[in-house]
Amino acid sequence: MGQIPLFEQFSGLKDALPYTSLTNLPTPVEKLESLGAAVGTDALYVKRDDLTGTLYGGNKPRKLEFILGHALHVGATRVLTFGAAGSNHSVATAVYTQELGLHSISMLVPQANASYVRTNLLMSHHCGAELHACGTSLRPPLNKPLVYEATLRQLVRRKVTDGRIPYRIPPGGSSHHGIAGYVNAGLELAEQVAAGILPEPDVIYVACGTLGTAAGMILGLQTAGLRSRVIAVKVTTGPYVNTANMRKCIQSTNCFLHDLDHSFPLFQFVENESEIREGYSGSRYALYTKAGVSAIRMMEDHEELLLEGTYTGKALAALIDDTQAGRLKGKTVLFWNTFNSCDFSKEIADVDYHGLPRPFHRYFEEPVQSLDRL
Ligand SMILES: *Cc1c(COP(=O)(O)O)cnc(C)c1O
Repeated sequence: MGQIPLFEQFSGLKDALPYTSLTNLPTPVEKLESLGAAVGTDALYVKRDDLTGTLYGGNKPRKLEFILGHALHVGATRVLTFGAAGSNHSVATAVYTQELGLHSISMLVPQANASYVRTNLLMSHHCGAELHACGTSLRPPLNKPLVYEATLRQLVRRKVTDGRIPYRIPPGGSSHHGIAGYVNAGLELAEQVAAGILPEPDVIYVACGTLGTAAGMILGLQTAGLRSRVIAVKVTTGPYVNTANMRKCIQSTNCFLHDLDHSFPLFQFVENESEIREGYSGSRYALYTKAGVSAIRMMEDHEELLLEGTYTGKALAALIDDTQAGRLKGKTVLFWNTFNSCDFSKEIADVDYHGLPRPFHRYFEEPVQSLDRL
């Protein structure tokens, strides 16, 4: 089991909050000397959450430790979750449910094609996940009724065959249990600051899709007494990611943890402790942007670290713009890498996409978007 400061500091949570170990924590923090010099800041660091898990890394395993811990605790044998066709959350769920002997069902909506969509679909299939294509639109709100209908059908079907409905995991794993994983991550960073591994960051940049990662992190940092300002770089185009929902997400998670262990403090939040950064999502979720792709290339050229175009490239693009605009002079800046860096090309080398449900074949037969590189 990794190091879990949430349990060390709030022992009541250890009994009240189910958990199953899937990660190697803490993840390292490294100084990005070369990229820092190139963009003109001498205190640039990265939090290597790409290394959370040995089977699959990125931000999702931190959430899944608490989510799947809870699923096991309530005796679930199947979980059902949601995402876009290439969802990192869906593939992470497939990988770790297989590890734990659970069955996973994913309800997936259409998205812009990219090479990672192919690898994630093949890996999920390889791990035995049951994949359902639902929705027909690239604009998420239009899919809602279709997703509800398809989901209801699956839930009823399991109720009839298994006698119970599967454990539901919201998109991105951003349930209270999942978000607890990032509260823990905030506490973990504070311990690394205390240990002198990095100075207290003035600013932290992180990609933001369903709010859970940034919200948990903000709550964890606040709990630890760190004053770092979190810039949550919005990668979606719908209305869901906004400051009001961010505040709600932080507060409800705060109440959730406080209710489980009264020694976990209850906070009043003020607005400027975090920021939702707009302007980097591009015209649609999962469509790569020039700024994002150029940020990915810079990270690769200078640090040999691999990012991707849907989330982390966009977050780094915001950081680079702010640095070059002189907004980060003299500041300690942390880039929180949320992308998986485990290579599973071997696992999927022999997986034939024809084994996937028919509606997914088009991701293998149609070209990937033009800014994507294989
Ligand atoms: C899911 C994901 C995010 C977004 O996390 P949320 O908690 O949904 O905001 C960021 N980066 C990567 C690589 C992801 O897969």
